Formats: sequence, structure tokens, C-alpha cells
Amino acid sequence: MADCIFCKIIKGEIPCARIYEDDTVLSFLDIGPINPGHALVVPKAHYATLLDAPDDILQACVAVSRKIARSIIKSVGADGLNLLQNNYRAAGQLVDHVHFHLIPRHKGDGFMTGWPAKSYPPGELDKVLGKIRENLE
Ligand code: AMP
Ligand code: ZN
Repeated sequence: MADCIFCKIIKGEIPCARIYEDDTVLSFLDIGPINPGHALVVPKAHYATLLDAPDDILQACVAVSRKIARSIIKSVGADGLNLLQNNYRAAGQLVDHVHFHLIPRHKGDGFMTGWPAKSYPPGELDKVLGKIRENLE
């Protein structure tokens, strides 16, 4: 993908703060961190979203994410860590090359303080559950 910023980073056309790479996966610091140590893990091949990438590539990304997560937590003395993955604009995806955010967390750091949970109106849970089961491929 010629105009994909992460493909450019992978090809070495633009610089990144590289943490780790292997044949399949690259990890580097996010340029706009939520907290210091916020990193990204991306497959070297271009896939737009989680829905597009094959299972083996995603498995490699998750395995590397765990390895990087351990190091980040140790390195910045984090109290926690979010693995965050956005797909499509409505979910906050800005770069259309599938990526995993590793966000170190500290008590009271103010990120994602709320979780606006709702409840199902009567009958709605079973309706949604039925549809999701039907559409499983
Ligand atoms: P998302 O909103 O999930 O698509 O996140 C894209 C992330 O990529 C943002 O957190 C950006 O700060 C990050 N980002 C964009 N360009 C670069 C870059 N050149 N180097 C490192 N991180 C980047
Ligand atoms: Zn790309």
C-alpha cells in the first residue's frame, strides 16, 4: 500500500522508534502516546483491519504483543496495561493498517475513566444473541 504510513515505516521510508521486529511483525513506540511506553504492534504485510488479516498473522501479533507488554510494564513501572485494537472510523481507527496498541497504565492516569455500560431492553439480548450465532462463519 503506497500511501500507508505503517507500510512506509515497515519499508524504512520513514523512521520509527523500533522496539522489536521479526519476519512477520514490527513493534515501535506510538508517536502520540497516551502514556510513555505506549507501543504499537503491526504485521509487516498490509491488512486494513482485524477482519482482513489471516489468523496466523494475528496470532503472531498477539504473541509479540505479550512479549512487548511484559517489557513495557517492567520498563515504565506500570500498574496495568490495555491491549487496544480499533477497527473502522466509528471505532477510532485512523491508520488503515491493522495494529495493536499496548498502553501502559498508572493508577489515576485519567485514560478511559468511564465504561458507559447499558442494559438490554426486555427480549433484546436473545434477539441479538440469535443473530450473532446465525452469522458466525
Ligand atoms: P488508531 O487510531 O488506532 O488508528 O491509531 C493510530 C496510531 O498511530 C495513533 O495512536 C498515532 O499516534 C499513531 N501513529 C501515527 N503515525 C505514527 C508514526 N509515524 N509513528 C508512530 N506512531 C504513529
Ligand atoms: Zn500498510
